Amino acid sequence: MIELHPLVGHQDARDALIRARAAGKLPSALLVRGMRGVGKQRLALWLAQLQLCEAPTDEGPCGSCRPCRLALGLEHPDLHWYFPLPRPKGVAGDRLAEALEAARADALAEIREEPLKASLADEMQGLYLGLMQSLRRRAQSRPTMSDVQVFIIADAELLVPQESSPEAANAILKLLEEPPAATRIILTSSEPGRLLPTIRSRAVPLHLAPLSRDDVESFLATRCGVDDTTARWAASLGQGAIGRALGFLPDGDDLGPLESVRRDAFALLEAALSDGRGAAFAAALEQRSSGARRLIDLFAFLEDWLRDLAAVAAGAEDRLISRDARTRLRETVARLSLSPAAVTSAYPALEEARELARGNVNPQLIMTRMLTRIRRSLRAPAASTASA
Ligand SMILES: [Zn+2]
Repeated sequence: MIELHPLVGHQDARDALIRARAAGKLPSALLVRGMRGVGKQRLALWLAQLQLCEAPTDEGPCGSCRPCRLALGLEHPDLHWYFPLPRPKGVAGDRLAEALEAARADALAEIREEPLKASLADEMQGLYLGLMQSLRRRAQSRPTMSDVQVFIIADAELLVPQESSPEAANAILKLLEEPPAATRIILTSSEPGRLLPTIRSRAVPLHLAPLSRDDVESFLATRCGVDDTTARWAASLGQGAIGRALGFLPDGDDLGPLESVRRDAFALLEAALSDGRGAAFAAALEQRSSGARRLIDLFAFLEDWLRDLAAVAAGAEDRLISRDARTRLRETVARLSLSPAAVTSAYPALEEARELARGNVNPQLIMTRMLTRIRRSLRAPAASTASA
């Protein structure tokens, strides 16, 4: 049977959970928070295993009893892992819940096949009502083989916005308000601020800090079959999150999905800062005219690039995120005589763009406005010096 890779790091959180379990004080609902890719879902699966294990030790689940092996193979009948899925096309009503369950089974089969596959946030994915209703029904039934059944609801912030209706969130809310005795719920979120306050207030928060770069690097080197240089490079860009670092590793002959977005974001910055206005306009028009949520990854990288520009302008190159771009960043700072203050004055443009993207405004409009504002912030000081 294929097994999940081991949980890396987060020792403080593990110790606290092991003690709570031994004392019979694990909360019925937990909200695991922390940056994307830091291991929230992996920790949730570990905690589920801990609760299902027949012989847990001071260090966690035993790893060898039957429930442990079933949990590690994602085949334990009392471990239910829910995550955002694309909405099935051309299906409605009761058939929708069925189609979503089928899609979830397919997705789980894929994870068993390829547990370390990196992917991007997808604006078409959500925790749809049909899925949450089937979760609720299942929670009302008795556990199959253990004393408890554990439900993991990943990326719980996606309960709300997809359908502009609170029904999926309400289905979970009712469960959190009156959880059946044998039910444990673990929510995970990298954007807990976007959860409904009523949900947030009913789950005990547990924050996961970023991992050390060494932990990420050694995971990549031992588990992903990449050379040491690649492991070090991706670990550095991963900023303490294995799930993020994985996104930089090459996918066959292709760039990793995150590496490709990182490069796109750099190209946008260069377009915003180019001598003529045409490049920024052209870059804006290259965006698809719908699906603004996809832009959020792009904006996150653009923010990293601005931070890196500010670091170079401030002479703090030891703080660089993209160390591999040091030379080009230096050239940009020199060419535009950038000050750290000029760079930071561009952040509000990005913040606004992010909000607009969440509101699903046309990406071309968002992009035009943002690039123009960034250009104004970063190029204005140089232009006025030149004309003086
Ligand atoms: Zn066990």
